[in-house]
Amino acid sequence: MSTQKHSFQAEVAQVLHLVTHSLYSNPEIFLRELISNAADACDKLRFEALDNSGLYESDPELRVRVSFDEKARTLTIDDNGIGMSVQEAIDNLGTIAKSGTREFTSRLTGDQKADAQLIGQFGVGFYSAFIVADKVTVETRRAGLPVSEGVRWQSDGTGDFEVASIERAQRGTSITLQLREDAQDFLNGWKLKSIINKYSDHISLPVQMEKEEWKDGEQEGEPGGMVKTGEWETINQANALWARPKKDITDEQYIEFYKSLSHDFEAPLAWSHNKVEGSTEYTQLLYIPAKAPQDLWNRDKHAGIKLYVKRVFIMNEADALLPSYLRFVFGVIDSADLPLNVSRELLQESRDVRAIRDGNTRRVLGLLESLADEQRTDAQSQEGKIDIGSGEATPAPESTADVTDVEDKNAAGKETATAAGASAEFADEAGKYARFYAEFGAVLKEGLGEDFANRERIAKLLRYASTQSDTVSVSLADYKARMKEGQKAIYYLTADNLAAAKSSPQLELFRKKGIEVLLMTDRVDEWAMGFLSDFDGTPLQSIAKGAVDLGDLQDEAERKAAEEAAEAFKPVLERLKAALAAEAEDVRVTTRLVDSPACLVVKDGQISTQLARLLKQAGQ
Ligand code: ADP
Ligand code: MG
Repeated sequence: MSTQKHSFQAEVAQVLHLVTHSLYSNPEIFLRELISNAADACDKLRFEALDNSGLYESDPELRVRVSFDEKARTLTIDDNGIGMSVQEAIDNLGTIAKSGTREFTSRLTGDQKADAQLIGQFGVGFYSAFIVADKVTVETRRAGLPVSEGVRWQSDGTGDFEVASIERAQRGTSITLQLREDAQDFLNGWKLKSIINKYSDHISLPVQMEKEEWKDGEQEGEPGGMVKTGEWETINQANALWARPKKDITDEQYIEFYKSLSHDFEAPLAWSHNKVEGSTEYTQLLYIPAKAPQDLWNRDKHAGIKLYVKRVFIMNEADALLPSYLRFVFGVIDSADLPLNVSRELLQESRDVRAIRDGNTRRVLGLLESLADEQRTDAQSQEGKIDIGSGEATPAPESTADVTDVEDKNAAGKETATAAGASAEFADEAGKYARFYAEFGAVLKEGLGEDFANRERIAKLLRYASTQSDTVSVSLADYKARMKEGQKAIYYLTADNLAAAKSSPQLELFRKKGIEVLLMTDRVDEWAMGFLSDFDGTPLQSIAKGAVDLGDLQDEAERKAAEEAAEAFKPVLERLKAALAAEAEDVRVTTRLVDSPACLVVKDGQISTQLARLLKQAGQ
């Protein structure tokens, strides 16, 4: 094959333009992206080699090497991973396969931070090379293909790229960047090492650089300098972060690892790192982000969980390991029991996977409970935050006894907490739980319908506004504690927004009697409440449904007056009923109104006016 010229897919050209023009503020991320691609390539090789050890050729020690040439002004990232065939190079480096690309470009805001985050989310990391390079040369050969089937891919990052076939003895990929004039400071061993340490420490693969030594000038007066020794040294820890003991991991390392998993620029709100022992053994490292991702409400949103089996990467987006209402969680699960050749289909059926999923769910709920408790304690004591992160003696958010108890049902098991953290960045900010809830509360509510076993725990985590609180901060337990003597139900009202809820005539009587009503304004509330008939023994009752029985809260005189009124107004009611026959099923005298002359209510067990409107909007 001679050199072929190809044009980038239209979207790629746009992305390239964006990448090179808007990310100057943080140029070093290119190294993180290229090293992470190299590590992915090695993971892929290790995985394919499970069935075909010949792919290792005679080079089984997987590694990534970073080198630079000051004279040529080039920087090279080299891996002995899976490599690419000609077609793969064209497909993977010249097009952006994901259908979301158009969406991606349309979402660009011009805000560097937000856009950079999008780049990560949409997996266009390779193109970050053009932040610092005006020419990128990729030489690669796919593992298992003959030496003659090497490929050279080259582009200056504008309109097109060239592909030529080459001889390449070495399996894997080598990416050489011709650095721009303003990016020459990357030709510095010390600087490169510090970037590698910052971004790639957690990668389980060695990232190596050539050792340099100081050499004095040969002649008097000639300046000395660093010279390369030809010996490679490993720069990063090269030890999967989750497999290390918690005491050896700093908060910064946890946070950096989170950022690499999530492509989030912000630190996570909290995390939990545990080794679970027993009938099913696995390591679990789970993070709760501080901000909802753009695609949180996308139906196809996958879980941000990576699955490893004994440190071998198996798959991204392992949906089977978390219920969908916890899809905002990022993390890693490393199982000691699953077979290495486990497929997505197999995952669905595995007993071990079910145990892991249950364990993950409990752990996330436990983490949320501890954030909620922490906030409560803060509110009560008014003296600073308790840092559940980094504290060596801090107990895990879920007590071991609790976990052991649950595990016992599966088989004798033990869960040892190794770490539970929360980033210090938020230590001086009020209300981590409130922050969490503002971002993810609505998703959590889906759990009422999805996770029967944990319904009570989820219910305890819910927060609402109410007639006594404009902020979304009232828990069902708070409400119960404030219930009036003789009150038999927890009352709530769903509406499109807080203003609409607060001006509802249905609240009048409750206001008059000083009975608190929860005001629910999330779209999912109506649906979710359908799964929650009571909390801690007290029924939940929508005040927009049926005849609200205030029981003992209604005094005898009022009841009598209502009955008499109903009697007296019978003829009027009959006429109203006849006149409204097409619109209303019943017309009755009520005690629920104070100022308004009339209001609409829905029969018990029927969908509310709000849900009806929602369904109508959705075309049902
Ligand atoms: P992502 O890593 O999210 O898939 P990138 O833009 O970083 O997106 O990389 C695009 C694709 O190019 C990768 O999915 C992979 O198929 C291929 N690729 C990039 N770097 C390498 C490499 N070092 N070895 C093999 N394939 C690579
Ligand atoms: Mg990548």
